Amino acid sequence: MKIQDIQAIQSLLATPKKIAIIPHRNPDGDAMGSTLGLYHFLIKNNHQTTVISPNEFPDFLAWLPGSETVQVFEKDQENCTKILKEADIVFTLDFNAFHRVGEMEKVLETLETTYIMIDHHQKPDDYATYIYSDTSFGSTCEMVYNFISFFDKKDQIDKTIGTCIYTGILTDSGSFRFPNTTGNTHRIVAELIDLGVENTQIPNLLFDNSSYNRLQLLGKALQNLKVIPEHKTSYITLTQEELNSFNYVKGDTEGIVNYGLSIKGILFTAIFIENKDEKIIKISFRSQGGFDVNEFAREHFNGGGHRNAAGGKSLTSMEETINKFETLVKNLTL
Ligand code: 5GP
Ligand code: MN
Repeated sequence: MKIQDIQAIQSLLATPKKIAIIPHRNPDGDAMGSTLGLYHFLIKNNHQTTVISPNEFPDFLAWLPGSETVQVFEKDQENCTKILKEADIVFTLDFNAFHRVGEMEKVLETLETTYIMIDHHQKPDDYATYIYSDTSFGSTCEMVYNFISFFDKKDQIDKTIGTCIYTGILTDSGSFRFPNTTGNTHRIVAELIDLGVENTQIPNLLFDNSSYNRLQLLGKALQNLKVIPEHKTSYITLTQEELNSFNYVKGDTEGIVNYGLSIKGILFTAIFIENKDEKIIKISFRSQGGFDVNEFAREHFNGGGHRNAAGGKSLTSMEETINKFETLVKNLTL
């Protein structure tokens, strides 16, 4: 981040402010961890701070410290709009384009506030006054750790802030496996563990928290897995009917996409999840190595993300979406 920007933010934060912090829609561990980590830091510095999530966050993140204070825009538009309108500063974390917040976009577009973006996705939009955007980071949480350090306030990072930051580093790095996991990532994590962050309990809370139905749904997803070995590709589909038959709740499909990459020789995978309410097929893409799924998602499926993990959506039927995907894959050399 530019030194002038750090100084400008420092003087902004020198007196108590009204601050809103926003993650992207369908927030994941990094989105919730980074917003709540920053929330605890700003509260500690006497700012009136609210995290506003565009929609509900999944249950497996509901233990995060401060999650009970999170306001949900889709559940209480009036109150959330009021908080946003009154905010002196709005932080947008783990996304870089207003369309990633869904309905809330309409409100964000009208605000006359100071936007500060902290994000690790490609191609940031230019709505923010101050931008800390860097695709070399594996998580926004790692950037929040740095952001706090820019103001020489690293000593304020305590177990609570550390727990939030650790969560996003862990989830967005695929448990420290993805290529952006650096020595620095591990050094930060080491410091957090020294602060008392429960590094064995947190993965249990996140990953060993499934319902019986979720595992049955995973079984169904694995049965639906298709492999296209000549193109080193696999994919999974889940229709709304299948989701309903396992009493799907938000978060149940988290991580299932990764199974497609765990097959020997597969370098590209996707999961297609039907959402009848929103009339879309939500897609997640994952790759190993050089194939850029961010580009693929941007170009063909209204999405984006990172080189090895991206998402997008399709507005056509499952059948048409799969036909399109298979045709595209047949022209790929991986
Ligand atoms: P996931 O597949 O886990 O939902 O998302 C993987 C990555 O792609 C995350 O960094 C996420 O923010 C990004 N991503 C997911 N869906 C979309 C989308 O519809 N549009 C864009 N631009 N990025 C997405
Ligand atoms: Mn992230």
